[in-house]
Amino acid sequence: MNQDLKSSSKTIRVAIIGGGVAGLSAAFRIREELRAANQPHELVLYEQNERCGGATQSQQIDGYSLDLGPNGWLSSEPLTGRLVDQLGLTSELITANTAAGHRFIYTRNRLQKIPETPTKFLLSGLLRPWEKLRVVKEYFTPARSDDGDETIYDFGCRRLGRGFAETMLDPMVSGIFAGDIHQLSLPATFPKMRAMELNYGGLFRAMFAKQKEKKKAQADPGGSPTGPAGVLTTLQGGTGRLSSELASVMSDVIRKGNAVSALSRQSDQFVVSCDGDHQQYDSVVMAVPAYQAAEIVKDLTPEISQTLQKISFANVAVVSHAYDRKTLPRELNGFGHLIPRRDGIRALGCLWTSCIFPNQAPTSKVLLRTIFGGSHDPEILSLSDSELIETVVESTATTLGIRTNPLQTWIFRHPQGIAQYTLGHRERVQQIEQFCEQLPGLVFVGASYRGVALNRCIRDAYTIAPRVLLPWGINAPSLSEKPPN
Ligand SMILES: Cc1cc2nc3c(=O)[nH]c(=O)nc-3n(C[C@H](O)[C@H](O)[C@H](O)COP(=O)(O)OP(=O)(O)OC[C@H]3O[C@@H](n4cnc5c(N)ncnc54)[C@H](O)[C@@H]3O)c2cc1C
Repeated sequence: MNQDLKSSSKTIRVAIIGGGVAGLSAAFRIREELRAANQPHELVLYEQNERCGGATQSQQIDGYSLDLGPNGWLSSEPLTGRLVDQLGLTSELITANTAAGHRFIYTRNRLQKIPETPTKFLLSGLLRPWEKLRVVKEYFTPARSDDGDETIYDFGCRRLGRGFAETMLDPMVSGIFAGDIHQLSLPATFPKMRAMELNYGGLFRAMFAKQKEKKKAQADPGGSPTGPAGVLTTLQGGTGRLSSELASVMSDVIRKGNAVSALSRQSDQFVVSCDGDHQQYDSVVMAVPAYQAAEIVKDLTPEISQTLQKISFANVAVVSHAYDRKTLPRELNGFGHLIPRRDGIRALGCLWTSCIFPNQAPTSKVLLRTIFGGSHDPEILSLSDSELIETVVESTATTLGIRTNPLQTWIFRHPQGIAQYTLGHRERVQQIEQFCEQLPGLVFVGASYRGVALNRCIRDAYTIAPRVLLPWGINAPSLSEKPPN
């Protein structure tokens, strides 16, 4: 460490660029560290919009609670629990209704429940008999031991067969990443699945071993290769409450309506340029999506700017639609349904919001949330509101048999909404991290790099963002660097 930089009396100036969940929680965490170290400091968070939160915002309209982007996080990430607790919001946590444990796939003209156990799965009609046999063969399929990259589709075909990849993995990937299984990297998107193969020799072997371990340790129920551990959780008022509370406690450091255009270096300092103003900082946390970061750092490091540009994004449109409960042909008890691409329906899937979180709609109403777009369908954002609603009506009629028009609809468009971790993503992130190691005081955090979920953004804020304080000998206490199993 450079001893000259170590100082307890100097005022450390830190800039955070981007006021989504990643930037807000990074600012919160860094301030906590600086205060604990009794270090004079000045923090500034730049947000281009007049409202913080990025994709994580919610609206309360006519008795509905509407999430514009994420609808929850899994309870398995202790650092998210810690942040919620620090914000004094623990009593306002809401976990998903147990009925939301039932998940569905609409395939081959039928809505089919996803079985909860491997045995029930093999007895279900989701796969054809020969496809089921191929799934069983997974147990005997040797593990690939090298660390090469591989698409989710190739991994799925190699271990479980094409039928499983197209019927199960494809919609699951649409549901999480709005992505294409032929392009996304398995180790970058589902590192736990790859670890199951490496550590246990296969997915079934890993599941059986974990079941045994759990029985032995009497641990809590966990996940399976196709369903992560933890319970979907939100806050009273939706996920946007998390960003609005963070924005409220950090309001004195936030500069809204300030779009950063460039980051440069001048005599050991970072210079943040914004609307013709140039401010010097000791450290900078980049918490904007990679395509924005690429623009901002293009003069500082053309090479890393090019690497950042290679991280692609998918356009996403979210349509929330509400119905009178009594007009629906059936009770919707479950989490929602996903739709494989080969089934030819434009929607990626539909969340049965008022079953997942009953408090998010009046009791006499049913609230659904259909997701469109993804890397297969970038044109989705060119549809007008009425065209999108027409598409919702068509897909809801086909998949759920709902033939009435929704009472109310709300449309939220997310241009370049979800990062796509395509082949080579891990190497790109490694290159960015190596660059930051050579330039202490700079880090890149957020959904573009190590995981697209809110939990991962918050983990970045607690474990990666405080690295910008290391040049001053401020070392974050030993919060686990390792994501939970
Ligand atoms: C439709 C949708 C559904 C999702 N569902 C889930 C879910 O259910 N669960 C889950 O865990 N995750 C979900 N996600 C992912 C989750 O929303 C993201 O992980 C998270 O919001 C990313 O936060 P972030 O801070 O990295 O980026 P963002 O939210 O994109 O924030 C970046 C911020 O930077 C600002 N900015 C950009 N450029 C500049 C600039 N030049 N100067 C200053 N400010 C700038 C932006 O205005 C924005 O506020 C979903 C995402 C989408 C789009």
